[in-house]
Amino acid sequence: MSSTDQNPDRLYSAREPIFPRRVSGKFRSLKWWLLAICLGIYYLLPWLRWDRGPNLPDQAVLIDLANRRFFFFWIEIWPHEFYFVAGLLIMAGLGLFLFTSALGRVWCGYFCPQTVWTDLFILVERWVEGDRNKRVRLWTARWDATKWRLRLTKWGLWLAIAVATGGAWVFYFADAPTLLWNLITFQAHAVAYSTILVLTLTTFILGGFMREQVCVYMCPWPRIQAAMMDEDTITIGYREWRGEPRGKHRKAEGAERLGDCIDCYACVNVCPMGIDIRDGQQLACITCGLCIDACDEVMDKVGKPRGLVDYMALSDEARERAGNRPKSIWKHVFRVRTILYTALWSAVGIGLLVALFVRSDIDMTVAPVRNPIFVTMSDGSIRNTYDVRVRNMHGDERAFRLTVTPDEAYAISVEGSDDGTFTVPPDATLLKRVYIVAPAGSAPANATTTDVRIWLEDAAAAERTYDDTVFNGKGMK
Ligand code: SF4
Ligand code: SF4
Repeated sequence: MSSTDQNPDRLYSAREPIFPRRVSGKFRSLKWWLLAICLGIYYLLPWLRWDRGPNLPDQAVLIDLANRRFFFFWIEIWPHEFYFVAGLLIMAGLGLFLFTSALGRVWCGYFCPQTVWTDLFILVERWVEGDRNKRVRLWTARWDATKWRLRLTKWGLWLAIAVATGGAWVFYFADAPTLLWNLITFQAHAVAYSTILVLTLTTFILGGFMREQVCVYMCPWPRIQAAMMDEDTITIGYREWRGEPRGKHRKAEGAERLGDCIDCYACVNVCPMGIDIRDGQQLACITCGLCIDACDEVMDKVGKPRGLVDYMALSDEARERAGNRPKSIWKHVFRVRTILYTALWSAVGIGLLVALFVRSDIDMTVAPVRNPIFVTMSDGSIRNTYDVRVRNMHGDERAFRLTVTPDEAYAISVEGSDDGTFTVPPDATLLKRVYIVAPAGSAPANATTTDVRIWLEDAAAAERTYDDTVFNGKGMK
């Protein structure tokens, strides 16, 4: 019985252990390559250096929480540019919709961290305890010295991977070499140690012990993805019309009436989810393709064409059953739904690229001070106060000046600056108190509110930006 089978008389069924057998083939090779690439990127990326000049961190990818910055190679995202992160998340979501709609659960089978780490843990398990039959025997064996040795070796290796996984995560949030030194000399912040501990335990438990249970019971994605798939989605299927009736005894009487499936259970024994794809589409199937490799191996041995278990669209299954040719893969992939997802994904991507290239390296936000709304000066002029936050996103110190338009109606001054100029350190934000005064009897002084535009100018680099606000006059009374 597989772990996903349900006993109708009980609400809970204990987990049945799964012992996936080793398999080789094109999908297994693809999974090894992708595993190596994904883990390589995850573990090594924080160690990649990127020269940004003397005042900025030289880590290529860094989430600098202390200074509220996100560095990604040559791109630096500030807190007020969070829309870039939101845009990237939208793109990731649309990309997932697109791939699921075209290729089913390709994310689950090849890229999901749960799948990737579980695959790695199973590889370690196989190295230490042997292939499926040996592991089954060890499972039922009594706890003697050999079993303890093998189990402790396996758990030790799993723990090492889990610690490395938790450790790699925190390196994305601080300078990796410095943090590593601080960690091993016990000088790092408690948050770093507790984060590593939590991630170590979750990796160890989810990848080592819970495995397919995470996909079947904890992850919402299998339920959501059903809404994105239809009969044209390429997914894993069993050519029932070709395989049935299944049977082992090819030379037995009536064997000529049997299908191509020799009922060897190779496809079931390699499945990391412990399911039988011949039972049809199942929520637990992560479309990893390992059952295809296993069955192709068997078909080669018995001299039958490959593809009894294969990537296919459900609509093609019906076509083939009726003796017709399947639709070309491109017709399955390029259909209204996927074209729509691609168009939306591209539109968001182009929007982000344009925003990235037109954004200014200086920025400001203006917040009027409301208490009091305005002050009447001794000469009858009206003064409004503003808090102006200036961001210098350059890697060097810059001198700035503030002006206001329409300038003929107002005078602007900056607290603590006689000539109205001030400097902002490299890659920093500065808050300045700013006053705008309208002469007595002028239109803005007498009006309720008047629109004004405050300009921030970096004279040396001829760069400027602005923010719009309002001037409150006596009409407020
Ligand atoms: S049935 Fe095949 S594709 Fe689905 S999870 Fe099992 S091995 Fe992977
Ligand atoms: S591996 Fe192929 S032949 Fe063997 S049981 Fe599965 S579908 Fe049938």
